[in-house]
Amino acid sequence: MTLPNDLKASTIAAQAGGVIDMPSGGVVPPVQPSTTFVRDEEYALVNPDNIYSRDNSDIVRIAENVLARLENAEEALLFPSGMAAIAALFRTLPNGATVVVQSGIYWGTTKWLRDFSARRQITLHEVDAANADALEQACAEHKPDLVFIETPSNPWLKTVDIAHAAELAHKAGGLLAVDSTAATPVLQRPLEHGADIVMHSATKAINGHSDVLAGVLATAAPAAQIWTDIKADRHDAGAVIGPFEAWLLLRGMRTLPLRVERMCRSTQTIAEFLSQHSEVTDVYYPGLESHPGHEIASAQMQGGFGCLFSFLVKGGADEALTVVGKLKLFHRATSLGGVESLVEHRHTIEPHTGIPESLIRVSVGIEDADDLIADLTQALG
Ligand code: PLP
Repeated sequence: MTLPNDLKASTIAAQAGGVIDMPSGGVVPPVQPSTTFVRDEEYALVNPDNIYSRDNSDIVRIAENVLARLENAEEALLFPSGMAAIAALFRTLPNGATVVVQSGIYWGTTKWLRDFSARRQITLHEVDAANADALEQACAEHKPDLVFIETPSNPWLKTVDIAHAAELAHKAGGLLAVDSTAATPVLQRPLEHGADIVMHSATKAINGHSDVLAGVLATAAPAAQIWTDIKADRHDAGAVIGPFEAWLLLRGMRTLPLRVERMCRSTQTIAEFLSQHSEVTDVYYPGLESHPGHEIASAQMQGGFGCLFSFLVKGGADEALTVVGKLKLFHRATSLGGVESLVEHRHTIEPHTGIPESLIRVSVGIEDADDLIADLTQALG
């Protein structure tokens, strides 16, 4: 069944893009675990779409279709993790290419990109892309083949003007890719602002239940060389998502807009509460009017500012760890975007990356906001 084109995100998500399993008529598609698919007596494929599950499979296609529609993309490709999606993107660059990447983004991306660039003679420039002048200068000076930004960024919650970054990348003769994980396709659609590729760790809010690793890349220009190369890389190098994971992801996505709505509302309330708290020295959340990226975030995000924020407590590592240790509802665990709230003391995990010792990163789930505030209140003493 094909859904009409002009539907809102919650309708597309709830109906999984309009999928009805035929001939069973089931409103939920089955998991097809087969890795290989038969041919008939004339050696024609019984289903021309299915040859071998590294090429493609029905459930992966269905999940990709939902993601493409949510992102307002022409095509989306799923990967077995967010990092696998990022790696597939960067592997399309020739040796000797130049990249401008936003500094202070998800550490896993920075670390992998530094190692990869060194191995492939790629010149990497790390720039505070939230500083428009710095990004403009880097693009004009280095003429990057690819500009990679993450907005809002993790864990600093910096925001980058996507349309401006796209203009700068294109003027320099390059492309713009945006890690939009913290925003989800419900709140922000970078392709509509001129980005060439949008990327998500679908492990986070897109799946939303902390039980699937997945990544996605999407584009509005499927005929572009980079997209052809990404597709070939995924197929040939085999970074494909399994059918069970794709099925779970599809199930998780049915409630994505609903979860995001609730999480954004609670996060805004909690961030406002903490910004008034005497034991808190700073709160980084683009939903706060005091946040330096609030204006940009308001212009390019709709419906909220996401479930991720960070705050600084008075004191240093000891004080932050004491607060984190006293929390009863927030789980002390990495990651974000799940239905359960999480806290992380990033400095403990990444001691040499410039993360302040007093910073606590929070991912707000779908629990009652009053319960979460009560938990933070008792932990802050
Ligand atoms: N991008 C961002 C912003 C992330 O937070 C993460 C993971 O935390 C990733 C990419 C990597 O995704 P994955 O863990 O699914 O490989």
